[in-house]
Amino acid sequence: MSNADEILAELRALTRDDAATHGGRVLSYVYDSGTEGLGQLAHDAAGILQWVNALDPTTFPSVAHLERELIAFARPLFGAGDGEQSDIVGSVTSGGTESCLLAVRTARDTWRARGGDGRARLLAPVTVHAAFHKAAHLFDLALDLVPVDAETGAVDPEAIIRRLGPDVALVVLSAPSYPFAGLDPIGAVAPRAADAGVAVHVDACIGGFALPWWPGVPAWDFRVPGVTSLSADLHKYGFAPKGASILLHRGRERHAAQYFATTRWPGYPVVNATLLGSKPAGPLAAAWAITRMLGVDGYRSLVERTRAATDALIATAHDIDGMRVVGSPVGPLFAVAADESVAPDRRVDPHHLADAVRGRGFVLQQQPGLAQPDGTRLPRTTHLTITPVTADRLDELTAALHAAADEVRGVPPVDAAPLAAGLASAASPAEALAALGVTAGGLTAAQAPLTALIETLPHETAEGMLVTLLASMVDPEATRA
Ligand SMILES: *Cc1c(COP(=O)(O)O)cnc(C)c1O
Repeated sequence: MSNADEILAELRALTRDDAATHGGRVLSYVYDSGTEGLGQLAHDAAGILQWVNALDPTTFPSVAHLERELIAFARPLFGAGDGEQSDIVGSVTSGGTESCLLAVRTARDTWRARGGDGRARLLAPVTVHAAFHKAAHLFDLALDLVPVDAETGAVDPEAIIRRLGPDVALVVLSAPSYPFAGLDPIGAVAPRAADAGVAVHVDACIGGFALPWWPGVPAWDFRVPGVTSLSADLHKYGFAPKGASILLHRGRERHAAQYFATTRWPGYPVVNATLLGSKPAGPLAAAWAITRMLGVDGYRSLVERTRAATDALIATAHDIDGMRVVGSPVGPLFAVAADESVAPDRRVDPHHLADAVRGRGFVLQQQPGLAQPDGTRLPRTTHLTITPVTADRLDELTAALHAAADEVRGVPPVDAAPLAAGLASAASPAEALAALGVTAGGLTAAQAPLTALIETLPHETAEGMLVTLLASMVDPEATRA
């Protein structure tokens, strides 16, 4: 048996190759508020409830208490009113994906209870988060994706309204969407969906704890009639550690429909508000403590910092020759694409840009181009998520973007055809992936070739390849090789 110090030293050593979770150098995945004492508070709060099982709030009443207070904190931010007159209630979940899954399952079951028959349809713009692809897959809904403008990523509200029908169990709109940060036309669509008797979920997983303090945003939440549910992630701009999101419903009946309960087995009566059975209470405690410490004023000032940095970076992106900002981003995120209106020798490929920026110490996220159902193509882009600590590194990041753009300007996008041929002729998937700089130890080389390959391969092939890669990373046999 090793002693605790040795074990912890080993653990720390293992994180040496991880991306930095703090400090503003990683512009996706992690959300650092930069607030003194917040990390320690979250750590200590989670520690206090470490061994509690949030499965059963009757045995551990602290769990219900914390959840109730988090819901009470969150709902006035989303136009839900407060106190007795509010009929907006909900749950704390383990994250955005779980909130989205539960929103879809609740809507499907409500649709069925009201006489919906056959396979339900889930209607959403192409830019809807992949969590809804997962939900449609798991809960057997037909995913009906409405193409967006190929240049701006914006969706025409009429295109959604036209496709409403009695088989639609749920319309999902984003505030804003992840890929291009577009704010979907919630005000135009939700009332019309309500007229047609169709539920509307607002996916504010990423924007939820930023948009309430963002200036000039049209009503996007429960203020809009017809919005029936809303998700907002505490573990994004709520600045809580991973494992916390909020799902709110209009009406206690819908919230009840989110639950699963059974007394039809010989064990304890099961009542689950969320997908898990036994579940951790630590993330709930940490999120509760953080909202307590920050309060509404804390969030407002963090959003102000974030907004200043976002505005500055968007201005930089506009300034860089050969690059463009996609559409009209709303909130602390945006995507850049090559400016196709200039000659090829002046264009900045967004994936080469991301690789060149990475060489300068910042991690941006590459997004492959995508063919829409109507045949139009969405551009390949690079995504930036801005946090309060980005403000501290603004000069450095601005310089890195300029220098990287100068380095890659005019370099054509990676041609994936030879890579795809190499993949097909490789002796093993591992060998093929190694040739792309992908190993069990992570991504070691430029990622533009891998992104180009993902963009080029048929979806099924690309998905299979990525599954092979990720599964090999946790395969005790494969990592020995
Ligand atoms: C992050 C995100 C999700 C999924 O949330 P996870 O916490 O990653 O599971 C859903 N929708 C949007 C818009 C998001 O940004």
